[in-house]
Amino acid sequence: MAPLRVLVLGAGFGGLELSTRLAGDLGDDVRVTLIDKSDAFVFGFSKLDVMFEGRTLDEVRLPYRSIDRPNVEFRQETVLSIDPEKKRVVTDQGSHEADVLVVALGADLDVDATPGLAACGGEFYSPEGAAALTEAVAGFTSGDIVIAVLGGFFKCPPAPYETAFMLHDHLARRQVRDSCTITLVTPMPKPVPISDEVSNAILGLCEQRGITTRHSTWVEHLDDAKRVLRLRDGGTLAFDLLLAVPVHRAPQVVVDSGLTEDDGWIAVDPATLATRFPGVYAVGDVTSAPVPRAGVIAEGEASTVADVLVAQMRGDPAPPPFPGEITCYVEMGDGTIGKVDVNFLSGPAPTAVFTPPSLKGAAEKQEFGAMRRRRWFGLS
Ligand SMILES: Cc1cc2nc3c(=O)[nH]c(=O)nc-3n(C[C@H](O)[C@H](O)[C@H](O)COP(=O)(O)OP(=O)(O)OC[C@H]3O[C@@H](n4cnc5c(N)ncnc54)[C@H](O)[C@@H]3O)c2cc1C
Repeated sequence: MAPLRVLVLGAGFGGLELSTRLAGDLGDDVRVTLIDKSDAFVFGFSKLDVMFEGRTLDEVRLPYRSIDRPNVEFRQETVLSIDPEKKRVVTDQGSHEADVLVVALGADLDVDATPGLAACGGEFYSPEGAAALTEAVAGFTSGDIVIAVLGGFFKCPPAPYETAFMLHDHLARRQVRDSCTITLVTPMPKPVPISDEVSNAILGLCEQRGITTRHSTWVEHLDDAKRVLRLRDGGTLAFDLLLAVPVHRAPQVVVDSGLTEDDGWIAVDPATLATRFPGVYAVGDVTSAPVPRAGVIAEGEASTVADVLVAQMRGDPAPPPFPGEITCYVEMGDGTIGKVDVNFLSGPAPTAVFTPPSLKGAAEKQEFGAMRRRRWFGLS
């Protein structure tokens, strides 16, 4: 029997996990083509290490050329169009067809969605954006710093708070914290809406560190000349340094393919991550699955797609659906890390259990990254 041809678009958390699982489970029965426009993967959390911990982009990049599996071919290409009916993809280098197509292209950052942001600069959600801010952060000695979440839907809901804690530490280490203010503005009603316990723990840590939070607050536009945020409620907020989380959107190539629904994201069957097109699946930030956008979620969904494809190949019964159980590590300053164990899909309502910050949590997160470097890239 000819091997199953699986085309995976996007080598982020979802695409890397799926390729690794399929290669390991199906061996010679699968040929995976993994496509990404970039030449290296960067963990989301590494962007904060670049901004605050003196790591360079080169130090945190994990090159795709390290992927060494006989049944996985990585190709650095930019996807230009997707035909989900024919499972055919055109890139800047040619075209690909497959038996199974998996879209794992993540969410794009739409800087132009917020008027004034392009002129102000200051987005830190891309590796390049975080690197570009390093100098401004390192040289900042006094004034108002605003961390602004500009859309209601963004990757890694705890990340803006982690940014505030790491920024606080960074300024304190340089003995300039007392001459700076830190304000976090976000449309979210609380840090982790499904859990008051976790939200209150995060808010308590903000209060202890003199970090001001403004929830349920929408930014309409940015005035670069006056260096103020104009808020939907008519108010303004001045800033000397802005760290912004831009509005997120599905990549335009995905929208143009007809895979997205009216909400702008790909709808999937939560049990299998199948789209409405036969043989086409989607995982991670690009979907509208009722879970937060996080690497560990994309990874769990990818693992479910692997289970589904392996069961189909072997003629086994359908595997259980993605349980939505994940652990989020949250940087809380002083080199400590808290943990939130979340269950979104398996019970009658989502639950979250908080483990307070500790050095043990920091060691666990270290191992989280190291394990994926080994598994996905064969790097020590
Ligand atoms: C500051 C920050 C901290 C974070 N911390 C955490 C954390 O601690 N834990 C956690 O679980 N999550 C964290 N996240 C979130 C996490 O990074 C994302 O949710 C996760 O990467 C989503 O995985 P994905 O596979 O859906 O997409 P991605 O990992 O974004 O991968 C999508 C890939 O598609 C590629 N691509 C896009 N368009 C094209 C195209 N046209 N052609 C070819 N390739 C294309 C991109 O280059 C990218 O590699 C953090 C995010 C940020 C920004």
